[in-house]
Amino acid sequence: MARESVISTLLDLLSRGADDAPALLAPDRPELSFAALRANVRGLAAQLNAAGIGRGDRVAIAMGNGPEMAISFFAAATAATAAPLNPKYRREEFAFYYEDTRARALIVTADSPAEARAAMLPGMRVIEATAQSDGRLAFDLPDAPLDEHGFATPDDMAMILHTSGTTSRPKRVPIRHRNLATSASNIGETYQLSPNDRSLCVMPLFHIHGIVASLLSSLAAGSAVICPPGFDGLKFWAWVDEFKPSWYSAVPTMHQLLLARAERNADLIAANRFRFIRSSSAALPPVVMERLEATFGAPVLESYGMTEASHQMASNPLPPAPRKAGTVGIGIGVDVGIMDEAGNVLPQGEKGEVVVRGGNVVDGYENNPEANTAAFTRGWFRTGDQGYLDSDGYLALTGRLKELINRGGEKISPLEIDDVLLRHEAVAEALAFAVPHKTLGEEVHAAVVLKSEADERVLREHCAASLADFKIPRRIHILAALPRGATGKLQRITMAKTLGLAPES
Ligand code: AMP
Repeated sequence: MARESVISTLLDLLSRGADDAPALLAPDRPELSFAALRANVRGLAAQLNAAGIGRGDRVAIAMGNGPEMAISFFAAATAATAAPLNPKYRREEFAFYYEDTRARALIVTADSPAEARAAMLPGMRVIEATAQSDGRLAFDLPDAPLDEHGFATPDDMAMILHTSGTTSRPKRVPIRHRNLATSASNIGETYQLSPNDRSLCVMPLFHIHGIVASLLSSLAAGSAVICPPGFDGLKFWAWVDEFKPSWYSAVPTMHQLLLARAERNADLIAANRFRFIRSSSAALPPVVMERLEATFGAPVLESYGMTEASHQMASNPLPPAPRKAGTVGIGIGVDVGIMDEAGNVLPQGEKGEVVVRGGNVVDGYENNPEANTAAFTRGWFRTGDQGYLDSDGYLALTGRLKELINRGGEKISPLEIDDVLLRHEAVAEALAFAVPHKTLGEEVHAAVVLKSEADERVLREHCAASLADFKIPRRIHILAALPRGATGKLQRITMAKTLGLAPES
């Protein structure tokens, strides 16, 4: 059954941990207890409020993973609305997101990319965040008395993220505190998280997976989060050995990188068994699941998440309940259904669009009535993914209705790439598309028709000027004409097959 909203703010979520229990840990950092984290977040949020940044204001954050990012996120969401951004964006991308969210301020650390600062719009204020020797975070804002009047309520927008839409402009997804609290609590229930657990956060904290599954679900259960500076296949087992996490959540690509290096870490792996391993955000090939379980000696639970649902929509359950390779499990606190085009909920076993409902699902896209009409039908949210419920009610995903490239969990709008390619003077037509890839799941390619001389290298350089590395097409195929279907429509989904491109590795 779908859970009604958990009426709670992120600050309330932090209240569940014992005062002296560790909340945030990181390599070469002092440990931050729950009491210290709560006080730190309250103090920083009060400073933001006193500086004139309050509810409804958007505060962009551009920094790598670590306790600074986690604390900045809590402070921004408590005082205003956090807008975490991928620090790998190019200047143009930062500028787009600042403008699109109407960001009033940007929180950075000394290590934040120069492009994030360079892209700031007139009137935006930069806030420098600095880690203190006791593990707390400081903003370069004047001291302020602790006044919680301006702090968020459960109904306020905690954060704003983007998802790729049906145009090259991504859609804004405003996520309320109660949505996040509900999702964190669903995840806690799925994996029976307790203060005895510890999660190792390797997922980026600008993505819903990292924020909700790695960070919020753990803290809401009163358990600690280890926050290294992001995923690093070379350091992973050393971190595990030092901090003894009981679980971690990651995308399949990361699990595969860990498997590839498992042999040389055999002793550390044997000495540190996880209670479970979670995989989400892209399809986990059954063979990878089998190898992970055999190598790491822990159940691997594949889950299905989406930004608009504050991440988790379904997951394979803990043993003794069965986990089924090739499925994403069952809804826990979330109703999962299958719908036909006309909006009828289909019987078990039939294939259609996956729909969900529950207190974790957002109320709608911001300022986008068209997208909302298309996405919500009879109280259900349409995911744009295709699948069916098997005889045990486990969800199997079979495809995608929406135009999106899932590159190892990073979602890329092909339309954004088309748009950039079409801006090159030599390009007459452009079509970005996904090509199957052994570890990433999908890789980005593009096909172009030229109207004047250019080669692949020039076009890739052109893309690199305005697109973050992960979005740049790995190959750009120069064709005499783009293949079209019988109705004259471009065939994005079947392009790889039409061009005879074999899966890459
Ligand atoms: P995001 O909003 O970035 O979390 O992306 C959500 C999308 O990721 C979903 O709509 C799916 O297309 C895809 N996705 C998430 N989890 C899985 C999974 N376990 N298997 C296949 N696709 C997934």
